[in-house]
Amino acid sequence: MNSPIGQPLALVTGGGRGIGRAIALRLARDGFRVIVADRDEQALSEAAAEACDREFVLEAARLDLTDREAVTDLIERNQPFAAIVNNAGIFNEKGFFDLDPEDFRRAYEINLVALFSLSQTAARRMEAGSKIVNIASRAFLGARNHAHYVASKAAVVGLTRAMAMELAPRGILVNAVAPGLIDTPLLKALTPERLAAQLALQPTGKAGRPEDIANAVSFLAAPRTDFITGQVLLVDGGKSLGGGMGL
Ligand code: NDP
Repeated sequence: MNSPIGQPLALVTGGGRGIGRAIALRLARDGFRVIVADRDEQALSEAAAEACDREFVLEAARLDLTDREAVTDLIERNQPFAAIVNNAGIFNEKGFFDLDPEDFRRAYEINLVALFSLSQTAARRMEAGSKIVNIASRAFLGARNHAHYVASKAAVVGLTRAMAMELAPRGILVNAVAPGLIDTPLLKALTPERLAAQLALQPTGKAGRPEDIANAVSFLAAPRTDFITGQVLLVDGGKSLGGGMGL
């Protein structure tokens, strides 16, 4: 079993399942001591069990990321984070004319405001050389049937660039990864017809795996990656190229 003592500390939000879990496992493999923050208790225990099977340790912190007191407490009772991965997010489908302001508030509260609050509190204590990686979405370029999500993720991209500029003097590097369609429970929000239509637009013709995103995060969170900041890395099987599989 790897010892957690003396290791750089990483925090992965929404790391109980899906992309976040793959990121947490990858960072543990990379040598980080990893805390996984998620509100889903069962997902947290399953993530810890999967880590154990692979002879890693994931530390679970059960909290709702919109609970600022709980987030501040988590940050203050730990050593400064060497890496933060703001991965937690929510997604649902709704056509433009069915959306109401509450849909926007909910998406923004978790996808953007919680990410900002956690990052601001944590960054006050983070040291030079630390990394923040925000999980955006390819959807920031535009997508149908979820304008509130698209807008929240475009805001994550804007915030990433602004944070990169303001945190650079402290030596903290901030980047975003924008996943395309990735096979996780989040995709249950798509009807089978919508999922098939999305896959048809994919030049590679298939959804990505959570590990594809974890590989990109691993690169951006690594101590050796020390001259990249304010960037958005699209990991989307080429979907952002436009077109699709047709000629
Ligand atoms: P999942 O829904 O599978 O996992 C997200 C996890 O985050 C869940 O365990 C969820 O808990 C948790 N979470 C959500 N809100 C909160 C909160 N307020 N406090 C604590 N935990 C919370 O998502 P994915 O793994 O698919 O997605 C991860 C990220 O990647 C998201 O930001 C998503 O927008 C982004 N992304 C995903 C894509 C995909 O195709 N899967 C494509 C592009 C971007 P609970 O179950 O209780 O909600």
